[in-house]
Amino acid sequence: MTERDRPGLVEVALDPAVADLDRTLHYRLSPGLKVVPGQRVLVPLGSRRLEGLVVGLAGPEQAPVGIQLKDVLSVLDPEPLLGPGLLDLAAWLAERFGATRAEAAWVMLPPGLRQGVGPKLQQRWELAVPDAEAQAALGLLERRARRQAEVLHLLLDAGEPVPAGESGAALRALAERGLVRSVQVEARRDPAGRRAYTPTQPQPPTEEQARALAEIRRRLDLPQPGPLLVHGVTGSGKTEIYLQAIADVLERGRQAIVLVPEIALTPQMIERFRSRFGEEVAVLHSRLSDGERFDQWRAIKSGRVSIVVGARSAVFAPFSDLGLIVVDEEHETSYKQQESPRYHARTVAMQRARQAGALLLLGSATPALETYHAAREGAMGLVTLTQRIDDRPLPPVELVDLRQELAEGNRSIFSRALQKHLTEVLQRREQAILFLNRRGYSTFVLCRSCGLTIKCPNCDVSLTYHAGATHLTCHYCGHRSAPPRRCPDCGSEKIRFFGAGTEKVQAELETLFPDVRALRLDVDTTRRKGSHEQILGDFAAGKAQVLVGTQMVAKGLDFPGVTLVGVVAADTALNFPDFRAAERTFQLLTQVAGRSGRGRAPGRVVVQTYNPGHYAVQAAASHDYQGFFDQEMAIRREVGYPPLSRLVNLLASGPDEQAVEALARQAGLALAQFFAPESIWGPNPAPLSKLKSNYRWQVAVRGQEAQALRQGVRQALQLLPRRSSTEARLTVDVDPVSML
Ligand code: ADP
Ligand code: ZN
Ligand code: ZN
Repeated sequence: MTERDRPGLVEVALDPAVADLDRTLHYRLSPGLKVVPGQRVLVPLGSRRLEGLVVGLAGPEQAPVGIQLKDVLSVLDPEPLLGPGLLDLAAWLAERFGATRAEAAWVMLPPGLRQGVGPKLQQRWELAVPDAEAQAALGLLERRARRQAEVLHLLLDAGEPVPAGESGAALRALAERGLVRSVQVEARRDPAGRRAYTPTQPQPPTEEQARALAEIRRRLDLPQPGPLLVHGVTGSGKTEIYLQAIADVLERGRQAIVLVPEIALTPQMIERFRSRFGEEVAVLHSRLSDGERFDQWRAIKSGRVSIVVGARSAVFAPFSDLGLIVVDEEHETSYKQQESPRYHARTVAMQRARQAGALLLLGSATPALETYHAAREGAMGLVTLTQRIDDRPLPPVELVDLRQELAEGNRSIFSRALQKHLTEVLQRREQAILFLNRRGYSTFVLCRSCGLTIKCPNCDVSLTYHAGATHLTCHYCGHRSAPPRRCPDCGSEKIRFFGAGTEKVQAELETLFPDVRALRLDVDTTRRKGSHEQILGDFAAGKAQVLVGTQMVAKGLDFPGVTLVGVVAADTALNFPDFRAAERTFQLLTQVAGRSGRGRAPGRVVVQTYNPGHYAVQAAASHDYQGFFDQEMAIRREVGYPPLSRLVNLLASGPDEQAVEALARQAGLALAQFFAPESIWGPNPAPLSKLKSNYRWQVAVRGQEAQALRQGVRQALQLLPRRSSTEARLTVDVDPVSML
């Protein structure tokens, strides 16, 4: 055997869904097989045959000594699924977010691949002979077989494969004559393909938009355009800026990715991109079927489209010459994946843009503290838009003190101020949005005799009463039970329902205003496919005057008829035991307030709160981002929270409470070998101390320097005898967005 004939080696990342390995494996490649990184292969592992992704090639000299390597059984893809750029990104992602190579690489593949989802083939017919020959045959057929002649005519005119339609018999006869043949053509399952869009033209930019676009164009000509924060108040025309920036990028022959939070990826949002760029736009989000997603992914990979609008994972869209990534509403926590690999799409976008020499646009009315801090420090560019389009004013915000409302005898969900403004808006035939970030009817059930709240048996949370379905439900695990007549603890019959949710808001609204039609938008009303679209469509068409909902109504909606936004309770998240509670509250209030007064008629906002003096509520009421930023930064600085430090959270969870606690304590001790005591928080039970029958403990560690922090954590983890067992497992969350 000559050196050349000796089998090469491939480095394989096994599918993490079936083999949870923390490393890649080497296999031998027999000389007959050809493979490049990015292709999937079938390989043996023990007695199993598993799918793996080739992430690297190696020469035979790199074979581990003393180990008999096994052979690759077969190559599964005709061409690589991931190119060198995305494979590099996977290696980076694994290091950056404490994931395995396999987790990082496989998260980039279209879901459904494992279930064997592939292209959908459609039978079509085409000419099997040159046009002249078909023409010649026509004369003969016209006399003998009129139908066949007609069909042949049609094919000559079409110039491309056509579906059989009603002409199956004629086509088969023509095929027997050798004149036509059937071919398999890939059909596109396009979820929005058959909808007609009215084309829109770029709007002449406002002065502020023009300034932002000039900065964008200047950067697009640089080899490394870097990141640019577009900080613009709600309705200042950020989306129009993205659209015009994309047009510039397409003109340069490059491609663009637009990330939008899943919840804001409404048909309305998609329409804004499709009506400007038509067929150039692919859409990726989790409500698509696996087949639809696969087809969108193929359209991107084959270069049939140049723009992707999508949720978090669209950051991995397989474009070959990326010129722009937009992260809209960059502060949204949904950009962080809450399961392994726990990546943050904004961070990944930054790396991918750097790698591709692309511009990164981060857009928000309420930038994350991390982002704004980076802009202040000069780590990224900043353009600011302070005005709404057409000089529309930002809506005045009226704060209502709910304690006083109660003291003066008003027990309704609606304060007198909110009732008054609702009455006026409804009389003027305008529209209103009512926001409450809790769904259901009553958010907890309490025994008045002993104080017991009814909790989920699987989770450390109280159950929500749903009036429509007349049962109690757990919003974490889905557990259901009938509302108790007697207290399970003391037997008392004094069971009471407290804490209004969106169902109750709708019910009380309909009692107060019997003639008014209200729609509700929350997880419960949007379970059916298409219902989300239906509700928003009906509201846009004016079929209802009020839209009641959770944060689904707070994000991105652009309804010019809405002149009143009512925040039923501003405090739902303010007291969460998470250092970002104030930031979240400020962001959410600002976002939902931004839905009011976007059309010609001026808008108004009423915010009901038990904490009218809280700085987050105050700053949101006066549309004062700077003021909020300064106050919040002062607090973060004092305690040493991000963005003035970096965090890694280690979460132990599992069905065995003692094992979970023990694992968290071990992790804490291991961390103590590498970090000072004041840098370690915990170990403690997590605020949500039990979810889906799994107990949860956590220990967090902070550091000034991100790389040193990750390095220390990695070394600490190596001290642990075991990170995972059936009783408890430890997960690593780098840059956590939630500490609950
Ligand atoms: P944002 O994304 O900042 O909330 P949008 O891009 O949605 O703002 O703009 C708000 C509204 O103003 C939209 O209806 C949009 O079509 C319109 N708009 C944006 N830019 C212009 C412009 N230059 N001229 C006229 N209308 C504009
Ligand atoms: Zn009781
Ligand atoms: Zn539960």
